[in-house]
Amino acid sequence: MKAWVLRGQAPIQRHPLTLARLPRPEPRRGEVRIKVLACGVCRTDLHIVEGDIPMRRRPTVCGHQAVGVIDALGSGVRRRLGERVGVPWLHAVCGTCADCRAGRENLCAKARFTGWDVDGGFAEWMTALQESAYPLPSLYADAEAAPLLCAGVIGYRALRLAGAADRPGGLRRRGELDSRQGRGSFILGLYGFGASAHLTLQVARGLDCSAYVFSRSPAHRRLARALGAAWAGSAEDRPPKALDGGIIFAPAGGLVPKALGHLRAGGTLALAGITMSPIPAMDYGLIYGERRLVSVANSTRQDIREFLALAARRRLRVETESFPFEAAPEALRRLKEGKVRGAAVLVRTGPPAI
Ligand SMILES: [Zn+2]
Ligand SMILES: [Zn+2]
Repeated sequence: MKAWVLRGQAPIQRHPLTLARLPRPEPRRGEVRIKVLACGVCRTDLHIVEGDIPMRRRPTVCGHQAVGVIDALGSGVRRRLGERVGVPWLHAVCGTCADCRAGRENLCAKARFTGWDVDGGFAEWMTALQESAYPLPSLYADAEAAPLLCAGVIGYRALRLAGAADRPGGLRRRGELDSRQGRGSFILGLYGFGASAHLTLQVARGLDCSAYVFSRSPAHRRLARALGAAWAGSAEDRPPKALDGGIIFAPAGGLVPKALGHLRAGGTLALAGITMSPIPAMDYGLIYGERRLVSVANSTRQDIREFLALAARRRLRVETESFPFEAAPEALRRLKEGKVRGAAVLVRTGPPAI
């Protein structure tokens, strides 16, 4: 099969990925094999490729928003051949540490991740643990379903950490929107408007939030307004009202003091990326007033199930820019340059090379 292989990290312009022929993987006990039909391209993939975070195995096949069909079963697996599934970032956790036992498996120090610790979806086939292969809502075509798996799920977790969900009008359990009337006054700031933010904005609108979007890109601001943003500007602009909560998606630490400057006392700013450039020194006054700054680390399996349930109940408009599988480096380059509208997705084209 064909797979994009990372042997050594380097800026994407220096072509660190090579299209290689690898043996088609065989599912081991407890695993399914998936014929990959589409795989989302996440900022984290770019961080792994370029060396912003370390490699965990060599070589690596990236990609952790894979959509495909189960085409082989390992022993002990009870799944249906031909079932469409999605494989997200979280591969496995230890299940026994204090964090796992307390429902914080996203913080498990022994957690392993798709496309980082195990081969991911930038390939024609992949294997996954059967519990990491999630059924997907049929409302979404393959390329639309892919960005739900990380961009969507992380945004959903970030929304909750930013305080937008757990309030009247927010969420009930298991991804259900609360039918109680919300106060409608929660103002949420979104910094950077790519794959995750464009989905998070729509979920936030469903939670009766007003969304203010901060982006350097006029095209991204236009998309934000089209998707229901109440206001869109750049991070240097002063929004019309103070934010009740905010989420920074862009990997730019320089945004932190700017966003804190927009946040009301008692508000929370969530940082949704796996890494970001250094946060500059800042005045204590920016965080005084019991403002909170919190990172978002991975997601739990419960987050994934809840978000997919929510996306099944409420059709999200998923803006995708599709690239042929063979154009993975081009997709990553456009993502780096901030040129992707919505989410970049690799789609399988033509007959597979077995
Ligand atoms: Zn991701
Ligand atoms: Zn653990």
